[in-house]
Amino acid sequence: MSIEAEARLARALQELCLPTMRAHYEAVARQATAESWSYATFLLELVQQECQQRRQKRIERWLKASKLPLEKNWQTLDLKRFPLKIAQQLRALLSGDFLDRQENVLLFGPPGSGKTHALCALSQELVRSGRRVLFTKSGLLVQELLAAKRDLRLPAAIKRLAQWEALFIDDLGYVQQNREEMEVLFTLLAERYERGSVLVTSNLPFSKWEQIFKDAMTAAAAIDRLVHHSIIVEMNLSSYRMEKAKKAKGSNPGTAPEGKESDA
Ligand code: ADP
Ligand code: MG
Repeated sequence: MSIEAEARLARALQELCLPTMRAHYEAVARQATAESWSYATFLLELVQQECQQRRQKRIERWLKASKLPLEKNWQTLDLKRFPLKIAQQLRALLSGDFLDRQENVLLFGPPGSGKTHALCALSQELVRSGRRVLFTKSGLLVQELLAAKRDLRLPAAIKRLAQWEALFIDDLGYVQQNREEMEVLFTLLAERYERGSVLVTSNLPFSKWEQIFKDAMTAAAAIDRLVHHSIIVEMNLSSYRMEKAKKAKGSNPGTAPEGKESDA
């Protein structure tokens, strides 16, 4: 190709926003010549490279936007620590099918049992497979919703959250909140009901949700909406940190609760 034609091609690819094709067409063309590809195969290879690069960039953007703590991922999650049933439940969720059914995932267990890590790891895998998840800490989320309500833009804030296939609310009920704060949380859950998945971790079993929602009726209504289409995972495990500390001291070797069945 003449230098002038090359410059025109480069400009056209830039105008069409095809940077990967622009960067790679020469190398791919050389390979096509060497391996006697058809024109169509050459084009397919180039287009696929562009698509692949875009997918990767989009996932990077979505991972950043998800606000997930990236170090809590599937690779650093010790699945052997969980009873077999829980490990299986978590693995089954990786397919993301529950998102298509707008189902919720609720993880219960004492502090340190690995709820946040497990759900972050799952969420990160879901984002990597092209799903949109937003991580929020319940206290912060409630404050944001409350601020929105004060500015008369609560519906807009809730609508904005609807763009995420899954809304991860970490540590629901951890901080005691007042009635007004709980009302906005309830409004959010009611609006999302059957429209988008909610992923929740909580140290409090349902029987104590009255503490979160301040009255029995609201708690029952919130539980009803969350539970209706949900997968419940109960992690009745001891604290991971505590176990590590004990092991480090050498005072309590080999006490991982392997094989311990949960009653989820
Ligand atoms: P929870 O949310 O139940 O209070 P976390 O998920 O925050 O517990 O876990 C507490 C600490 O222990 C975190 O640093 C987390 O990374 C680690 N941890 C817990 N469970 C596991 C696990 N199965 N594999 C790896 N790290 C874990
Ligand atoms: Mg947690």
